[in-house]
Amino acid sequence: MSHSPNNPILLISSLHVDEARKAIANLVAQLLQESEALNHSSDIETVSLDQAINRILAEDLLSPIDVPAADNSAMDGYAFDAQCLDTINSEITLQITGTALAGKPYEGQIAKGACLKIMTGALMPHGCDTVIPQEFTTSITEQTICFKRDQLKPGENRRLRGEDLQQGKPAIAAGRLLRPSDLGLAASLGIAALRVRRKLKVAILSSGDELCAVGDRLSAGSIYDSNRYSLIGLLNRLNLDVIDCGIVRDDPAALKSAFIEAASQADVLISSGGVSVGEADFTKQIMQELGDIGFWKIAMRPGRPMAFGTLRAVPGKAPAKKTLFFGLPGNPVAVMVTFYQFVRSALLQLNGATQTTPPLVQAICATDIRKKPGRTEFQRAILGHDADGRPSVRLTGSQGAGILRSMSEANCFVILGHDQGNIAAGQWVDIALFDGLL
Ligand code: AMP
Ligand code: MG
Repeated sequence: MSHSPNNPILLISSLHVDEARKAIANLVAQLLQESEALNHSSDIETVSLDQAINRILAEDLLSPIDVPAADNSAMDGYAFDAQCLDTINSEITLQITGTALAGKPYEGQIAKGACLKIMTGALMPHGCDTVIPQEFTTSITEQTICFKRDQLKPGENRRLRGEDLQQGKPAIAAGRLLRPSDLGLAASLGIAALRVRRKLKVAILSSGDELCAVGDRLSAGSIYDSNRYSLIGLLNRLNLDVIDCGIVRDDPAALKSAFIEAASQADVLISSGGVSVGEADFTKQIMQELGDIGFWKIAMRPGRPMAFGTLRAVPGKAPAKKTLFFGLPGNPVAVMVTFYQFVRSALLQLNGATQTTPPLVQAICATDIRKKPGRTEFQRAILGHDADGRPSVRLTGSQGAGILRSMSEANCFVILGHDQGNIAAGQWVDIALFDGLL
């Protein structure tokens, strides 16, 4: 085990997934404090709405207007003064005095005993506070409408000014990972640009003598480097700046210079491969020279070996800023699982997001699953429905850490907790969906 002066937790030989997450979150919080001390005002920029998807809102977005801006009708129907409901008659008859359309308000006053034909979204005319929906009327002529008094209460079917949002109040809180609805909401307030965190610069590299770049000829014993492309895809979903440092050989000098190069440019470096037993000793030595990095054995499957810490500011190269480092395992599925479980939330936290973990849902397991207590497992699965329409989940075949097809065909992880034993078909299990729907 590596020695790590700042973090006693790194000395534990097999770390619970939750402990690892906590240790990572603590280190990121420490980095944030340090960067605040270095003045981070340059970490905020203004981008137009069409560029803001998946960026993180840096400041509360205050509504410049009331929404709705004025009282308006929630239904197609007839607007009137609810005082006319204050009667012993069970049926009400009102004179139609005009029409209000959305975008074409009716300027006049509505007299007692009269009403105005009104469309959804049209401004409520002066003197009216209630709308009877068209379908609730008992009869309609050119001049009059009738309806039963007990069909509605005063104030119904009217949207009040400021009911959704009040001027000066936050419409979207700082720290939101911006989704399509947030862009629409900002536009609905007339806001064309948003203050967001600058994009994190994330360097990636693959390490291993056996790796061959796509496009090159595969020689005997070598394999294509797939991890960089999985990582590029994962990072692009977060709208980050990716710095691709390519493939690095299992050679101390090459690895060292790649690390120095990445650390001088990037906020975060993610490598894959070279942290498992045997290789770790070699990587360890270099990483220890450059930073404060712990080598962990995490009680999880897939993804047991992982390195994590910071790379020190490189002598001779600019600022005293540290680069966050993740040394992920080499196995292609383990890369994606450890990214999902540890890296994604750390990147979001580092960039000021308030919500960093995706939600879990539950589904009924369609088959038995063998599981040993004492480690967290991430099985790849497809979520669907059983014959009764209940959520049902089945595994995508062979679950080896190198079998990327198990990920590719899946739409979710079945997450089996640390203490969980075997699962019997019909049991409810935790699910993490790969994609959000909106
Ligand atoms: P390592 O962690 O370096 O021992 O690698 C574990 C397994 O993952 C080995 O079978 C490697 O060949 C494989 N592997 C490592 N890096 C990559 C990569 N970039 N793309 C695909 N497979 C990899
Ligand atoms: Mg290797």
